[in-house]
Amino acid sequence: MPKTIAIIGAGAAGLMAADHLSELMADQERDWQITLYDAMPTPARKLMMAGKSGLNLTHAQPIDEFIASYSPYADWMAPMIREFGPREVRSWSYAMGQSTFEGSSGRVFPKSMKASPLLRRHFQHLEKRGVKLVTRHRWQGWTDDNALLFETPEGQATIRADAVLLALGGPTWPRLGTDGNFLSVLEEKGIACSPYRPANCGFEVGWSKQFIQQWAGEPVKSVTLTFGDRQVHGDFVITRYGIEGSAVYGLSAPLRDALEAGAPVTLQIDLRSHHDLDEVKKRLDQPRGKQSFANHIRKRLHLKGVQAALLKECTPREVMNDMGKLAQAIKALPIHVTAPRPLEEAISCAGGVHLSELGDDLMVKRQPGLFIAGEMLDWEAPTGGYLLPACMSQGHHAALGIGRYLNEL
Ligand SMILES: Cc1cc2nc3c(=O)[nH]c(=O)nc-3n(C[C@H](O)[C@H](O)[C@H](O)COP(=O)(O)OP(=O)(O)OC[C@H]3O[C@@H](n4cnc5c(N)ncnc54)[C@H](O)[C@@H]3O)c2cc1C
Repeated sequence: MPKTIAIIGAGAAGLMAADHLSELMADQERDWQITLYDAMPTPARKLMMAGKSGLNLTHAQPIDEFIASYSPYADWMAPMIREFGPREVRSWSYAMGQSTFEGSSGRVFPKSMKASPLLRRHFQHLEKRGVKLVTRHRWQGWTDDNALLFETPEGQATIRADAVLLALGGPTWPRLGTDGNFLSVLEEKGIACSPYRPANCGFEVGWSKQFIQQWAGEPVKSVTLTFGDRQVHGDFVITRYGIEGSAVYGLSAPLRDALEAGAPVTLQIDLRSHHDLDEVKKRLDQPRGKQSFANHIRKRLHLKGVQAALLKECTPREVMNDMGKLAQAIKALPIHVTAPRPLEEAISCAGGVHLSELGDDLMVKRQPGLFIAGEMLDWEAPTGGYLLPACMSQGHHAALGIGRYLNEL
């Protein structure tokens, strides 16, 4: 009798697990039946969505730096990334017909920038290796006699498998497939989980009406954001509700944690990080003559457009009239952040199944034969090419664990 493997969730982690298990099956000449189940009519919708704005597959920095970016989960991720890391992600992309290139600041993309060509090839490749894809099957838990229970268009279906990988993702952008309801099913089994929380998300700021009307949607480029001991240099966007974008995402974990702890949260923006405070003061102190204030800061500091408007929005009038205080505001403009945007809008999430529930091979300690990988686990990482490789790496690592588990059955 062939041994059966159910991989539930055909996203980044599930697809990489299927890839590696089918390779193991061929190499070790095993009689395994590998089936990928997904709730949606088509698989990997979050990857497809990620590809719309340029699929950032990984990052080109040295491997030790890359691993350190997963802090405080770096020690947990390290062995998995060393097995299957940025180099392997790029090789996989190449094998799927998409060479990769390094964009700005070391981010790595497939040449088409999209997910669709990669996924098309990947599914063809899995099919050739005998992996079956079953869509419109939403996993709901287990029956009393431990079969997998699915909701399908034809009603409920039960399926038995010798090994199961749950790779159901995190409940951001739920219309793409993941609703997060599985957490209560796992908790009922005694598996410790934390509620999902937004990561790499936008934040609310009480902008004035005039500011929103004129500047919502406008990028603020090349600034340094500071919160506590964390600093991020980059761009962000003014939105109707507040702020979002890569520089904000880089601070989203500490900002979210501070808001949850009930602390007043003020982040500081350095609008002129290439000048020190003395230089900013010196330039502001130059004679203004008959120029308007707006012209003065534009000429002396190239502060204009949304940056000048932001300075005005966040600075009391008396500070605007005091060049010493104004210089300080330009170097550390305080932005009062009131709440993270909802989980549904976030790029990724924190929370989920506690890592302490898993053994080294990602098998659930209290349920042999059940493996979990990807964003549904309780870890988080920044944007910039760290989320997808982590999920793929975990999928690959779980596949190794499943292989060993089945070989010992
Ligand atoms: C807009 C956007 C852009 C992004 N861009 C990038 C990027 O450029 N680079 C990057 O590294 N990361 C990016 N990410 C994050 C990245 O897409 C995710 O971290 C990654 O896809 C998570 O992989 P996963 O395998 O854990 O889950 P997913 O890839 O989300 O896959 C989970 C799968 O499980 C299925 N599923 C869910 N529940 C059930 C159920 N009960 N039964 C059966 N199937 C179920 C879902 O339909 C889905 O197909 C982006 C995310 C978003 C939202």
